[in-house]
Amino acid sequence: MRNLYELTLAQLEDLLQSWGEPTFRARQIWTWLYDRRVASFDEMTNLPKHLREKLAADNRLGDLDMAAERTSRDGTIKRLYRLHDGQLIESVLMPYDDDRRTACISTQAGCAMGCVFCATGQMGFARHLTPTEIFEQAVRFARDLELQGDRLSNVVLMGMGEPFHNYDSSVAAIRRLMSDLGIGARHITVSTVGLVPQIRRFADEGLQVKLAISLHAATDQERQKLLPVNKRWLITELLGACHYYIEKTGRRVTFEWAAIAGENDTPGQAHALGKRLSGMLCHVNIIPLNPTSGYAHSPAVMERINAFIDILESYGVPATVRVRRGIDIDAGCGQLKSAVIHASEINILSDQPAD
Ligand code: SAH
Ligand code: SF4
Repeated sequence: MRNLYELTLAQLEDLLQSWGEPTFRARQIWTWLYDRRVASFDEMTNLPKHLREKLAADNRLGDLDMAAERTSRDGTIKRLYRLHDGQLIESVLMPYDDDRRTACISTQAGCAMGCVFCATGQMGFARHLTPTEIFEQAVRFARDLELQGDRLSNVVLMGMGEPFHNYDSSVAAIRRLMSDLGIGARHITVSTVGLVPQIRRFADEGLQVKLAISLHAATDQERQKLLPVNKRWLITELLGACHYYIEKTGRRVTFEWAAIAGENDTPGQAHALGKRLSGMLCHVNIIPLNPTSGYAHSPAVMERINAFIDILESYGVPATVRVRRGIDIDAGCGQLKSAVIHASEINILSDQPAD
């Protein structure tokens, strides 16, 4: 059995040719997959019955096995998928009041970066996802929205995992979101904890995708407490890579700031941040800390956040507070987690060789 989402159009044409079918059929199937976004071969009504049966006999429409789904009071949907080796990943769909429908997708099962306030970081790293496993999470939401006469408009790589730790697969998935699913580059956001070489490499890709950087602190001392990655690259090096990205792409960078009471919501941090970002083509996105079981701190209160924003404004640095979504079902930023199956256990559970 083959997962049809793994094939390029050229490979699909080759397959049909090998079956003695005219190659225009490949284009028809492609349209059903990525434009009409159907969930079964039966729905591909302009294909002859024998071809639909042959497709169904040898192929699957996707590898993600949905293990659970929850809907938040605000309409946010969180899904748990089981992968072929038993690993579990989550993705989230956020319907906004305007016409946006945003899918938040995972790039790894778990995460190796260990940010202390993040549920994914608290669970550890299991494995990288393949480009198809990343891409297919968006396809699944796109398919379901299509059934409701709706359309997936935005994708953010902000679910479980660090996209730039799984660089090649994340970029391959981004390219497919654009070319196959028709999501415009400007409607795709990739968020990174700040892997400096990969930010520079991403700047050179020539994509118009939005870049978000998880900054969270403006001094190395404070950032090291929250994000172990800061021991590898100091804030100055990180901002150097961001300047390079802005220079190469002409795009504004977003800095993410999970506002934590008594930690990074102080006037001192606001001034330090204002000084560092002043004059830079950027925007600061403040997210009051979402609760996770492994980090006993509270979100900053609005009064402190507003004072923080005022200080940033005095440096000419724009900042806004992002509305928290899906908190009641643990679908907010940094709340995605599942039990990690460690590599040694995968060997026992599946007959696939570990890589
Ligand atoms: N690994 C990437 C993308 C996934 S995390 C990254 O770190 O950027 C998505 C965003 O959620 C990041 O900005 C992350 O810092 C933020 N986040 C993590 N835990 C959070 C929490 N408990 N509350 C609010 N935001 C959090
Ligand atoms: Fe990984 Fe991002 Fe969570 Fe840090 S915030 S542990 S990089 S998913």
